[in-house]
Amino acid sequence: MTMIEPTDGLRLKFWGVRGSIPTPGHHTLRYGGETTCIEVRVGPYLVIIDCGSGARRLGWLMNQRVPEPADLLFTHTHLDHICGLPFFCPAYSLDFDIRVWGGHVPRDGSLEEVLARLMSPPLFPVPTSALRACQFRQFLAGDSVGLRPGLVVRTLPLNHPGGATGYRFDWGGGSLAIITDHEHGDAKIDAAVAKFVEGVDIMVYDATYTDEEYHRFVGWGHSTWQKAVALADKAGVAHPVMFHHDPARTDEDLDRIADRVRSRHPGALIAREGMELVASAMEVTVA
Ligand SMILES: [Zn+2]
Ligand SMILES: [Zn+2]
Repeated sequence: MTMIEPTDGLRLKFWGVRGSIPTPGHHTLRYGGETTCIEVRVGPYLVIIDCGSGARRLGWLMNQRVPEPADLLFTHTHLDHICGLPFFCPAYSLDFDIRVWGGHVPRDGSLEEVLARLMSPPLFPVPTSALRACQFRQFLAGDSVGLRPGLVVRTLPLNHPGGATGYRFDWGGGSLAIITDHEHGDAKIDAAVAKFVEGVDIMVYDATYTDEEYHRFVGWGHSTWQKAVALADKAGVAHPVMFHHDPARTDEDLDRIADRVRSRHPGALIAREGMELVASAMEVTVA
C-alpha cells in the first residue's frame, strides 16, 4: 500500500476501519482488521485522523518519504483510536513536525497526560517525552481550529462516553465530515450533527451496529448503518461511508450489510482498509 500524494482537492485513504480492537485473520482479509486511522490530504496538507493500529503502516511509509508536516487529530482517546501511537515511527523523529490535537479533554486536563497513561511503564516502556516530533495541542469540540495557513477544520462534540469530536473539512469545492465515535438518540446532538454534515460529499460515520441489534448496545456510544443513511437523506450527504466496524463482523457479514446499505442509498459505501476517496467540486471517486 502507498500513501496518497498531495492534491488540489480533498482525498482520503483508510488505514484502519475497525472499532474496539484489531481483528486480524482470514475472516477480515478483504475489509481489514486494523483499528481507526484515516489519511486525509487537504490540498497540500497532510491530516491524520486517529492513531489506531492502522497508523503503524502509514507511519512506516511516511518514514520512507521526504518528511512532511502533519496534523494528527484524535476523535477521542479510547484505546482503539490511540493504540497505534507508540508504534507510529514518525512521532519519534525530529525530522517530522506533528501537531497532535484533541477536543474532548476537559479544560483542566491535558491531552499528553491522557496519552501518557498508555505510554508509561509498566504498560509501555517508552514515555511520551520520546515523541520528539509531536507538539500536543487542545481545543474544545465545537471550535473551528486553524491547523495550517488557510486550513481550518470545523469540529463538533459527539455523543460518546467520555466525549468524542466530529470533524469537517471544506476545500476546493469538496467536503468531508468524520462522525465517529457517536451514538444517535440525543435529539439536540442529533440536530447539531445533521446541521454539521449538511451537504457534504463524504460522511464517514460510526456504523458499528445494525438497527436490529442496537437494542442490546444502547449507551455504548455507537450508531447503526440505518441511522447513517437516514442522516444522509436528511442532510443531503452524497456518500455516507460506514466505518468503525464491529470486531465480530466477518467479510461476509460486511458484504451482506453492503448490499442492504446500497439498496437503501445509492451513494453509500462500506469503508475498507486501503480504500481511497476523492472529493472535488466535480464528483466523488472511489479508487
Ligand atoms: Zn472506537
Ligand atoms: Zn470510543
